[in-house]
Amino acid sequence: MRPKNFIRTFIDEDLASGRYAGVATRFPPEPNGYLHIGHAKSICLNFGLARDYEGHTNLRFDDTNPAKEETEYVDSIQEDVRWLGFGWDDRLYYASDYFGRLYECAERLIETGWAYICDLSPEQLREYRGTLTEPGRDSPNRGRSPEESLELFRRMRAGEFAEGDRSLRAKIDMASPNINMRDPAIYRIKKAEHHRTGDSWVIYPMYDYAHCVSDAIEGITHSICTLEFEDHRPLYDWFLEKLDWPQPRPRQIEFARLNLEYTLMSKRRLLQLVKGGLVDGWDDPRLPTMAAIRRRGFTPSSVRLFCERIGVAKKDSWIELEWLEKAARDDLNPAVKRVMAVLDPVRLVIDNVPDGFERKIEAPFFPDEPDRMGTRELTLTKEILIERDDFMVEPAPGFLRLSPGREARLRWAAFVRCTGHETDADGRVTLVRCELNEQPVTVDAKGKPARPNIIHWVPAELSVPAVARVYDRLFKVPRPTGEDLAGELNPDSLVVRDGARLEPSLASAAPWDRFQFERLGYFMVDPKAGEPGGPKVFNRIVALKDGWKGAGGRRPR
Ligand code: ATP
Ligand code: MG
Repeated sequence: MRPKNFIRTFIDEDLASGRYAGVATRFPPEPNGYLHIGHAKSICLNFGLARDYEGHTNLRFDDTNPAKEETEYVDSIQEDVRWLGFGWDDRLYYASDYFGRLYECAERLIETGWAYICDLSPEQLREYRGTLTEPGRDSPNRGRSPEESLELFRRMRAGEFAEGDRSLRAKIDMASPNINMRDPAIYRIKKAEHHRTGDSWVIYPMYDYAHCVSDAIEGITHSICTLEFEDHRPLYDWFLEKLDWPQPRPRQIEFARLNLEYTLMSKRRLLQLVKGGLVDGWDDPRLPTMAAIRRRGFTPSSVRLFCERIGVAKKDSWIELEWLEKAARDDLNPAVKRVMAVLDPVRLVIDNVPDGFERKIEAPFFPDEPDRMGTRELTLTKEILIERDDFMVEPAPGFLRLSPGREARLRWAAFVRCTGHETDADGRVTLVRCELNEQPVTVDAKGKPARPNIIHWVPAELSVPAVARVYDRLFKVPRPTGEDLAGELNPDSLVVRDGARLEPSLASAAPWDRFQFERLGYFMVDPKAGEPGGPKVFNRIVALKDGWKGAGGRRPR
């Protein structure tokens, strides 16, 4: 059973009433940037509805604005949609495919008196538009005959006028309380090279006009978009009505866009981060782009799970980052091997075993179900490496791991009790000395054996060197404005552990392989970083537990 939401309710009604025989949706990105997790919400919604209602989804590049679009984005967008697990068969379209049809429809609007050529300059157009509290004023050309407008429109198309000299406008109502309905532009002059149509057009259709007609041409039933288009819906319907478009016409439905705490989704801001060198390219694993999320190690199913859980709403809200992280944990938890890695090692020497001591231990990769992922052999040696913060010379209150005189249990192995330590000139611990015991030797106040905490470890010599990149929130403020990037960015969003050491079984880990490093989090071998033959680079996908609180956005249960 899929969760109900208002969009599904609308669709159910439309199918029950016979308005549509099936469901056809579209995902209409503008190829002017990389997709981000907000787009993933829209992709999962559109493709998910089509899947559940046995309909189909078109991928349509909304390339009506010639200045900004690039082929690089067209390719990356397709890769991202496929990565999320969705396909469009042969239904890959471009709004520019319809330039001819859109032009013909515009001529029809002129002929039927619903559109006219306006000679006002862009500044005058703004002036005439009015405000939220004041009505607009009619263009002096509003009464122009269809014949004259048609002739001027054809000359516009032929390139006879300069940019901004004239525009084609819908004839609706300059006094409408909805500013979108105050004779909006349909076509403007733009002498720019288009990535697909080259220089064959010098006039380009406006989004509101192109979008509804493109939907209608493709037979889209439910045109799902974000809330800021709610006030554009009357215009969407108006164009199709005045074009006398045959029924059934598409129905626009708006939902709340995704805002995710501690990150930003505006393409403009993402571009600033990338071009300004504040992050390391479009796939820097700290970014919310799909390319970055993929490279960080999130699985497609975790992103789909996230989108399903946050659902769709009719009111804007912020989602806590923990929703995404929890979805990743829930998805990875049953799927990956548990292994040991030490990110910030300190040496531990076991004094009461001989030099060359080796103990082989067979340990399951998935302890909860030992048969599921098999086992590997661990080797306990006289010298091992433990996590620096698992040892404290003077244990802080509540610290229950190793410190002088105290005991810990080595994961899958025996017990160690700290008998001493060494420091360098700065007081930094360089070595922890221990004795090995098969059973804990510490007793509590009642004389009962204590239950030492478990710490992870790797053998010093046999372990594999690696680099671990530990990622944190990109911004230090939960709801960044993006206006002061330097001030709002989290300076600790990336901590590189280049002296990390891994248990020997990880020597064969390959790019895209994911693991749980016990006690540390989920990690994936970075597909891009690292020199051949050099240490592998692991990205932390997500920590094991949420360690911080957001600003009170919606939290997962
Ligand atoms: P811009 O305004 O810079 O063009 P955009 O976010 O609108 O950016 P589009 O390429 O036009 O980018 O978006 C494609 C589709 O993704 C649209 O249907 C849009 O509604 C949807 N979308 C974009 N951002 C989000 C978001 N944060 N949450 C949900 N859907 C989104
Ligand atoms: Mg847009």
